[in-house]
Amino acid sequence: MAENFDAIVIGTGQAGPALAVRLAGAGQRVAIIERKRFGGTCVNNGCIPTKTLIASARAAHVAREAARYGITINGAVDVDMPRVKARKDAIVAESTGNIESWLRGTTNITVVQGHARFTDRRSITVGERVLTAPQIFINTGGRPTVSAIGGMDQVPYLTSTRIMEVDRVPEHLIVIGGSYIGLEFAQMYRRFGSQVTVVEMAPRLIAREDEDVSAAVQAILEGEDIAIRTAAECLSVERCGTAIAVHVSCEREPRVVEGSHLLVAVGRLPNTHDLGLERAGVETDAKGYIVVDDTLATNVPGIYALGDVNGRGAFTHTAFNDYEIVAANLLDGDSRRVSDRFPVYALFTDPPLARAGMTKREAKASGRPTLVGRRAMARVGRARERGETQGFMEVLIDEETKRIVGAALLGIEVDESIHCIIDVMNAGAPYTAIRRAMHIHPTVSELIPTLLGELAPL
Ligand SMILES: Cc1cc2nc3c(=O)[nH]c(=O)nc-3n(C[C@H](O)[C@H](O)[C@H](O)COP(=O)(O)OP(=O)(O)OC[C@H]3O[C@@H](n4cnc5c(N)ncnc54)[C@H](O)[C@@H]3O)c2cc1C
Repeated sequence: MAENFDAIVIGTGQAGPALAVRLAGAGQRVAIIERKRFGGTCVNNGCIPTKTLIASARAAHVAREAARYGITINGAVDVDMPRVKARKDAIVAESTGNIESWLRGTTNITVVQGHARFTDRRSITVGERVLTAPQIFINTGGRPTVSAIGGMDQVPYLTSTRIMEVDRVPEHLIVIGGSYIGLEFAQMYRRFGSQVTVVEMAPRLIAREDEDVSAAVQAILEGEDIAIRTAAECLSVERCGTAIAVHVSCEREPRVVEGSHLLVAVGRLPNTHDLGLERAGVETDAKGYIVVDDTLATNVPGIYALGDVNGRGAFTHTAFNDYEIVAANLLDGDSRRVSDRFPVYALFTDPPLARAGMTKREAKASGRPTLVGRRAMARVGRARERGETQGFMEVLIDEETKRIVGAALLGIEVDESIHCIIDVMNAGAPYTAIRRAMHIHPTVSELIPTLLGELAPL
């Protein structure tokens, strides 16, 4: 017997639970299906555990740097990885537990555990159960990929998911992938005490960013004795006794890097391969992402795709924003669109990189007259007081409209201070809204009005 609902949500990532609760609150009978742990990637293998581990790594780093601040630690700074992991596991367990009890405690929601598959455009099977609904919301997220590298089937390797179970400090961690996920783990494990080598195929780290941003991030990491090998080619891996050898070049020396552990962080794939989408006729693109319109509707009426699975974002905040867009259109009569938003994200190295809107490269390519305001963190009082002056803040202005079109902030606390810029960009207000604002002293944010008073042509 099929169980009939008004809506089915597949996946309990960053969009599904909030949407299920909104729909249930509007009186709809909702089934939400999860095959693994409640909360999805961000809660279990992504944002929350990484930022928890980064906090432990920073504590070790600050302790080692204590003498710079006139503080003496009598004894070695040791990293107790089982306790580091236990702290991470406790925070993750609390978060995942909260989501599960929130869903189970909400009237009108039926929680179903197991793998969901479409049988047609209105029906889903989960084991023996058959669920039907006129509206189906896919929030199945993604998983790490390792496909591009030869020899991967010959060596043990970690992914961003598997590394969550590590409770020892690797002697030498090789990280293949010099982008956001790889760099966070690289610095974290260096601070835990591992020797770390980052191998990146592109000519520079985080190649999506401007060259000066990549160079500054690389200098920060090299300053902590992380070895970085960019422009790696002929990439393959093999076992070498108990070690893992990563071939990084066919010509340039050194051709091989050997390490005790390997983390592969080269990208993610959408979880669409095992959903039975073909039986529902839902269209995907060449990479497997579900094709959606500006309201996140798929080509099949009544079926929507939210979060990483639609390829329109790869962050928790984009997934949550997807929920807000769908809820606004379906429940609030408010016409919200994906195209209303602009890119915002952070790389949570220490110090972090916070980004909004265009890079300088994109601003130049737009052909619009652009102004740039820039200030080194060495000229920010808060950074000097903290003894952490690496990085810079840079903001781009469209000279004609006076709107902020982009920002790259690299330095302490910029993952928070960028939000004054993001809010003004969202409001469609001119940059002078910040230029004229009085910010609190002594903060990083107080220098953003100042740098906006020192604009020069890009
Ligand atoms: C190491 C790492 C660090 C990250 N750090 C950050 C960060 O700092 N900030 C940030 O914004 N983003 C970060 N991200 C990205 C962020 O985690 C994702 O963008 C976000 O989790 C996407 O949410 P989602 O709702 O699309 O899907 P997910 O969170 O991936 O959830 C999908 C859920 O669907 C379930 N599922 C899949 N298929 C099925 C099926 N067939 N049946 C039933 N259930 C199914 C899965 O088990 C999962 O629980 C990080 C990611 C990683 C890997």
